[in-house]
Amino acid sequence: MSRADVVVVGGGLAGLSAALHCQDAGAAVTLLERRPRLGGATWSFERNGLRFDNGQHVYLRCCTAYRRLLERLGTAGHAPLQDRLRLPVLAPSPSGGEPTAAVLQRTGAPAPLHLAGALATYRHLSLADRARLGLAVRALQRLDLSDPALDTETFGAFLARHGQSPAAIDRLWDLIALPTCNVRSADVSLAVAAKVFRTGLLDEADAADLGWARIPLADLHVDPAAAALEAGGATLRRGARVVGIDPPTGRGGAGRLAVVLADDRIEADAVVLAVPHDAAADLLPAGAGIDPARLRRLGTSPIIDVHVVYDRQVTDHEVAAGVGTPVQYVFDRTDAAGLARHDGQCLAVSVSGADAEHGERPELLVERYTAALAALFPAARDAKVVDAVVSREHAATFRALPGTAGLRPGPVTALPGLYLAGAWTATRWPATMEGAVRSGTVAATCALDGAGRRPGATQLAEEVA
Ligand SMILES: Cc1cc2nc3c(=O)[nH]c(=O)nc-3n(C[C@H](O)[C@H](O)[C@H](O)COP(=O)(O)OP(=O)(O)OC[C@H]3O[C@@H](n4cnc5c(N)ncnc54)[C@H](O)[C@@H]3O)c2cc1C
Repeated sequence: MSRADVVVVGGGLAGLSAALHCQDAGAAVTLLERRPRLGGATWSFERNGLRFDNGQHVYLRCCTAYRRLLERLGTAGHAPLQDRLRLPVLAPSPSGGEPTAAVLQRTGAPAPLHLAGALATYRHLSLADRARLGLAVRALQRLDLSDPALDTETFGAFLARHGQSPAAIDRLWDLIALPTCNVRSADVSLAVAAKVFRTGLLDEADAADLGWARIPLADLHVDPAAAALEAGGATLRRGARVVGIDPPTGRGGAGRLAVVLADDRIEADAVVLAVPHDAAADLLPAGAGIDPARLRRLGTSPIIDVHVVYDRQVTDHEVAAGVGTPVQYVFDRTDAAGLARHDGQCLAVSVSGADAEHGERPELLVERYTAALAALFPAARDAKVVDAVVSREHAATFRALPGTAGLRPGPVTALPGLYLAGAWTATRWPATMEGAVRSGTVAATCALDGAGRRPGATQLAEEVA
């Protein structure tokens, strides 16, 4: 029987963050990951000599916990933030010519005026639709984000009540709601969408400046986190599937928790369970006071990415969003893939809320998205597609429908020593890297407190959560 002070179950961003936080506070850490690799929902793979991520990952300047993690790992320079939000939004031309472009960019004005110019000239909407945008913006600003009633209606219903047409929802609001919440405005809970728009766009002018990795995610945060943990003496066990968590067996609940693997049992002062919600539902012991059926009701929502390698440069855009095209977002991944610029260009198209697409055959998806890219980027029409691959994550995030806010538990369970982390826990954020890192850090703070290391930290962590 081995001993550990803190055992972290799950090697995604929540688990890695929890482990680093515990280790930095002086705890002895063991991290157990079911798969042969760490990174969870953020991982990279190699194909024909090039490197791809399972899905394009973007963060915003308001994602302060994720940014701090990158700084801690010394890799923030590889995922730079834009100086100022600048997002070209392209619509294919019906006549096959150059696409129509609008740019969502902020000025140096304070929020919410920072976007006024961009919205006033946003040519993908009629003048009447543009004139009505302010109605919804002001209504969003007035919301109390802690009001449970926000989780009883969809963002789409809220937008319609505040004068937004179906076109405005499709061509503007969903440009932001869909990639951040992974569910369209028509279905997403107002509670989650309002958090995104308030924290990401309306409360601070610079909050939505975009950042993304210029190197594979494995190099950006997965491998550096593993290296930092190992350098600090943590034990990392990959391919270690946890099958149960045993409560202490001593009189009156005294004793230590035990994490059960197929061939081992590890006792711990504290356990941070940082697995997806359905896995947590399987693992949580009855004494934790969390109903597994409620966790399963969080559901899942898929994301697919179509990666296309061309024999030449087809666009100058580093990032662009699309309207009137299946291409939701497209990123230039040439440098990250390791492709020399003179040898071609590698683009990643990311498709959130991909319920319709994730079961489709890869050939069909490649055909559809290369045609859509050709409609947006005329230079792609003469270019040769050298390679194309589809990555799919059927359970990329939980499904943030109305009613889900109340299903997301906080970090503290009823079982002393057992804490929860994961992008699906009660962070108020949608399932994001930021939510995962925040949840891991908060759960770790609680674990350290529960393990007797930092009196008062549990209360602090609950307030933060
Ligand atoms: C394609 C895609 C694109 C995305 N795009 C963005 C984006 O642009 N911006 C953004 O902020 N977020 C994005 N996200 C969401 C973000 O990646 C996730 O919310 C976040 O990484 C989840 O981290 P986590 O640690 O909570 O969970 P996970 O990463 O799911 O980690 C949980 C880990 O637990 C392990 N595990 C499960 N069961 C067991 C067990 N029994 N024993 C041991 N280990 C177990 C799993 O193998 C996994 O490694 C995207 C996600 C996907 C899939």
